[in-house]
Amino acid sequence: MRSVAPNLRPVEFSMAPSLEFPWPSYPGEVTRIAPGLLWARLPLPFRLDHVNVWLLEEKDGWTVVDTGCDTAQIRAAWEDILAGPMAARPPVRLLATHGHVDHIGLAGWLCGRFDCPFVSTLGEWLWARGAHDPNLGGARAEHRDYLERSGLTRPEIDAQLKGRDEMIALAMPLPGAVREIRHGQEIVLGGRRWEVIVTPGHAFFHASLFDREGGILIAGDQLLPHISPVVAVWETTPDGDPLGDFIASFEAFATVPDDTLVLPSHGLPYRGIGARIAALRDHHKDRLDLTQALLDEPRTARDVALAMFPKVTDVDGIGFALAEVLAHLNRLVATGRVERIEHRGAATRYVRCNA
Ligand SMILES: [Zn+2]
Repeated sequence: MRSVAPNLRPVEFSMAPSLEFPWPSYPGEVTRIAPGLLWARLPLPFRLDHVNVWLLEEKDGWTVVDTGCDTAQIRAAWEDILAGPMAARPPVRLLATHGHVDHIGLAGWLCGRFDCPFVSTLGEWLWARGAHDPNLGGARAEHRDYLERSGLTRPEIDAQLKGRDEMIALAMPLPGAVREIRHGQEIVLGGRRWEVIVTPGHAFFHASLFDREGGILIAGDQLLPHISPVVAVWETTPDGDPLGDFIASFEAFATVPDDTLVLPSHGLPYRGIGARIAALRDHHKDRLDLTQALLDEPRTARDVALAMFPKVTDVDGIGFALAEVLAHLNRLVATGRVERIEHRGAATRYVRCNA
């Protein structure tokens, strides 16, 4: 298994963890966050070693929020949770905050086994169905092009393509239909009214759920406490500006009070969403300045990735570093601070604008 650590790299800033709740030891154990709201932690096969999932108690079973990816260890953890804390009462719906494998990977398995509906944004369901389909025509060729344009070496390209196959294998066949949720909609889950907040940046149509009355935000990967969520440009949208999208997405949380309990998909629950957003904003501003400063002469995205992530020395690890760097480069290009120099058949180079 390739290491996926640069995906969600540790950064210097971090929220003080909430000490209100004991960290559930896994597999199979849960922590009660509030009446009818349980927290379980599932083991991931990445250096980022866990994902949090949330269980909302319904009259006839449970709403399950996120699933982990498809590994024997996570399936075993689910068996323990189903038989233990869920008291053999079934999931009545499965909701995915977004389509990344560690959130949606077992959605097809759980929905199929319990014959329950799948809930997510239409965009994330469609994206996941495409991104996790090993037979999708053209995807591999586009991935190779993207890596070549970024200046990667042959061994690095081969490792990335292999890693892609391994990642796809972590998602089961996904549900064939979706019960769509949209931005601004209110839904009742576990007896609570949740406002749906859909934001781009980390994923294209990521859904957070905000219980304003209860003061709880299920934040998925959008606002993690200890690490900066991956904001990355991949082969499918090479000219995208996900970092611009991510920074703009903070506005969608402007009316979330600061004492709200934030439930992130990785790390510990925390309070203080305002400070967290400010820290993420500052972090990316610093990274943008640093990236621009490296470009006094034309460099490839690979050159910049190795300079920005000096600890990445293996052919596997460069993929996420590259994708993060491309997000910063595309933001700098979009804001006129950096010029992109493209040549057919050669790696793209970037140089700072001297205006
Ligand atoms: Zn994610």
